[in-house]
Amino acid sequence: MLRAVELVRVRMPLVSPFRTARSALTTKDALLVHVITDDGDGWGECVAQADASYLPDTIDTARIVLRDHLLPRAFAGVSLDGVEGHATARAALECALLDARLRAEGTSLARHLGAARTVVPAGVAIGLTEDTDALRALVAANAQAGYRRIKCKIEPGRDVEVIRAARAEAGTGVVLAADANGSYTPADTGVLMALDEFGLQCIEQPFAPDALADHAVLAGRLRTPVCLDESITTAARATEAMAAGACGMVSVKPGRLGGVAAARVLLDDCERAEVPALAGGMLETGVGRAALVAIAALPGCTEPGDCSASDRYFGPDGDVTDPIVLEDGCLRVPTGPGIGVDVRPERLARCTVARERIDGS
Ligand code: MG
Repeated sequence: MLRAVELVRVRMPLVSPFRTARSALTTKDALLVHVITDDGDGWGECVAQADASYLPDTIDTARIVLRDHLLPRAFAGVSLDGVEGHATARAALECALLDARLRAEGTSLARHLGAARTVVPAGVAIGLTEDTDALRALVAANAQAGYRRIKCKIEPGRDVEVIRAARAEAGTGVVLAADANGSYTPADTGVLMALDEFGLQCIEQPFAPDALADHAVLAGRLRTPVCLDESITTAARATEAMAAGACGMVSVKPGRLGGVAAARVLLDDCERAEVPALAGGMLETGVGRAALVAIAALPGCTEPGDCSASDRYFGPDGDVTDPIVLEDGCLRVPTGPGIGVDVRPERLARCTVARERIDGS
C-alpha cells in the first residue's frame, strides 16, 4: 500500500551547455518521484523540463498534476487512467510504483519488461556549437570515449557543414545521426537530401510534430531513414505514422508516451511492423537513465539510441545515483531489483532545490 510520496526537484549543472534548434540548457532540472509503500521505496523521474520549449508539460505542471490528480488516485488504489494527458507526470509515478513493487519481488525492470540483452550500445547527443572546431572536438572526444552512436543537433543554416565535420571526425565506424527537432519545412527538402551522402543512421524529426504527410513525402525522397521523435506521442500515433510511410525509424521516449509500459507496447508494434526503433534520451538523471537502459534492452529496440553515461552530462560525481558508466562503448543493463540503481542521499542532497512530501490519509 502506498503511504507517502516525496516530490524532489533537482538541478544539476551540465558539464557543457546543451543547445538545440528549440532550446538551450545549462542545467538539468528534473522532478524525482519517491514513493514510500508498505513493501519498500521506489523512484521514478519526470522528464519534463523547467520550461515548455520541448514538451507541453513542465516540471511545475507535472508537480501540480501529481499532487492534485494522480497521487489522490494512487493513494486510493484507483487507476491513473482517469487523468488525461500529462504523460511525463504519469510516467514518473508509474515508474516509481513499479520500482517499489519489483524491488519487493526481487525482479529487475529489464527482466519484467522482457529485455533481450545484457548491454546496450551507448549513444550521445551533441548540441549545436559555437563553431565547427568546437563540434569537431566534441565528436572526437566522444568517439574516443567509445560511444557507438553520435547524434548531432542541426538547424537551418547549420546542417551540411555540421554533419560533414562530424563524419570526418567520427570516421565510418561510428553510427552518426542528425536531429533537427522539427526546425525544417518542406521547402528545405534539398538541404535534407544533401545529408544523404554522409551515411546517417537517420534524420530525427525534420519537420513539425503534426506534419505526418510532409514527412511521408520527404521519406520517399531520402535514402536516409526519417526517424520521428516529437511526433510520437502515443502508440496509435506511431502506427498512423508508420502506415503513412512517414517514418522509417521511431524514437521511443517513455516520458512522452506515459511510461515504460506504453513504451513497451510501442516497441512491440514497431517489431511487428518491422520498423527499427531506438530509445530516446532526455538527459535523464541516473533514475530515468537506468529505466531507459532497460527499454533499450528490449527486442524492439533494434538501433543504438540516446543512452549515455552519467559523466557525459553531469561530470563524474554529479548524478543522484552512482554514475552509469561506459564499458567498451556500451552501458550494462541493470540486473538489480527494480530500476537497479539506488538514489544516494548525499548525492541527492547536493542537487535538491525543493522537496515536498504528500502523505496518504
Ligand atoms: Mg530528438
